[in-house]
Amino acid sequence: MPQDKDELEKNTESSGQAPDNGPEEYEKVCYICRRPESKAGPMITMPGNITVCSHCMQKAFDSVEKNGIPQMFPNGMPIQFGVPVDFDNFAAQMPKTQQVKKKKEKEPKPSFDIHAIPAPHRIKAQLDEYVVGQEYAKKVISVAVYNHYKRVAADASGDIEIEKSNMLMIGPTGSGKTYLVRTLARLLDVPLAIADATSLTEAGYIGDDIESVVSKLLAAADNDIEKAERGIIFIDEIDKLAKKRNTTSRDVSGESVQQGLLKLLEGNLVEVPVGATSKNAMVPLQTINTKNILFICGGAFPDLEEVIKERLNKQSSMGFRADLKDKYDKDPNLLRQVTVEDLRAFGMIPEFIGRLPIIFTLDALSRDMLIKVLKEPKNALLKQYQKLLSLDEVELEFTDGALEAIAERARKKDTGARALRAIIEEFMLDIMYEIPKDENIGRVTITREYIEKTGGPRIEMRGVEIPELQASAGHILD
Ligand code: ADP
Repeated sequence: MPQDKDELEKNTESSGQAPDNGPEEYEKVCYICRRPESKAGPMITMPGNITVCSHCMQKAFDSVEKNGIPQMFPNGMPIQFGVPVDFDNFAAQMPKTQQVKKKKEKEPKPSFDIHAIPAPHRIKAQLDEYVVGQEYAKKVISVAVYNHYKRVAADASGDIEIEKSNMLMIGPTGSGKTYLVRTLARLLDVPLAIADATSLTEAGYIGDDIESVVSKLLAAADNDIEKAERGIIFIDEIDKLAKKRNTTSRDVSGESVQQGLLKLLEGNLVEVPVGATSKNAMVPLQTINTKNILFICGGAFPDLEEVIKERLNKQSSMGFRADLKDKYDKDPNLLRQVTVEDLRAFGMIPEFIGRLPIIFTLDALSRDMLIKVLKEPKNALLKQYQKLLSLDEVELEFTDGALEAIAERARKKDTGARALRAIIEEFMLDIMYEIPKDENIGRVTITREYIEKTGGPRIEMRGVEIPELQASAGHILD
């Protein structure tokens, strides 16, 4: 969960990485090979709380037998990377992000209670409070998530295995893909990791290893493996992994990442570094089972409409009643007709799509939807600004015309709801700067003219109503 992650980082910073709150919650880690106790077996504890696994201890004895006692520093301290090791303070040196919480084996396993999973209509009702429109996507995702967690519960009871319901979300930039997943994870109280497909590379290349997405999830779960194994991983920009079409040059980079993701998607044991995105000698490794991790991939898939159109045109021109070629050109919901073949033609490999059985689309946000995004969700942008100004005891209002003007400007930018924040911030800066100057101001109304820079906001003083654009508010016009 994002809050957990923040908290974790805060703890790490403020406590100087000392595992002072509840060290018994964390596993001991071998000082030499950095494997945790669950992997390396029981640890031998030495003075200064240094723990070493029996394997490394044996190796140390063998080496002493062969080479004699190693050279010490003049003051008798051994060195690591040229720095004397502070044995007294050793336990505090291990960053908390690299420590693994012990598996609570003695407690009865918290088997997933099927009745605790909210029914699809409840999940959707909760999503409705935050996400505007996207009715179809919200419905599909609610059912898929419900089935996924039912599957996890059924799995715990050792029943027939139900197939994984990984998802592929197709929708233009700023249509709410990430937002939908984020909201979902928060509502279900499961850890969430968000990764960008473009930063992933095959192991050994510059970039993040594919398995780093699981590391991120582990960090989001506060290094609690059981929690991470029931989390959600969202991989954005998945369309960037497509093989290039219409090219003769060999293009394997994206394809190999698709290949690499296969084993994570279908469920496998992966060894991941704890507290880092790549494996190296200094970070402990942990094994995570991705079987119950829900993978959601998202992408804008530009030009996918062309591929769909091509297929539909081919189909219709083969029949006796050959349709007009441009029949599909103006269909706003063309993307909904996407098939697995279209995605293959786009450049996704069949095995990859095969592991994402639930495919659905999100619509581009219309002007009216953008207006709703501004004012309706529980944490809508306007509500946030209204709250801010209410702390100065100033009411903030927007006329319908102002909302329309903001939505129209946002539509032009073609980045969906993302543009809204930038536009609002641009003109709210002056308001937030000027209003607190004058304590007599009681209400500010943002008008279409102000958004279009042809006028100013309407300012009303406490107690007295001043019609429009009074001299006292003139400075905001500048
Ligand atoms: P993308 O589809 O590119 O992943 P995001 O989910 O990142 O888009 O959307 C960016 C922001 O726009 C979100 O943080 C959210 O505040 C807002 N937003 C986008 N779509 C919606 C929606 N349908 N309802 C409410 N807010 C939305």
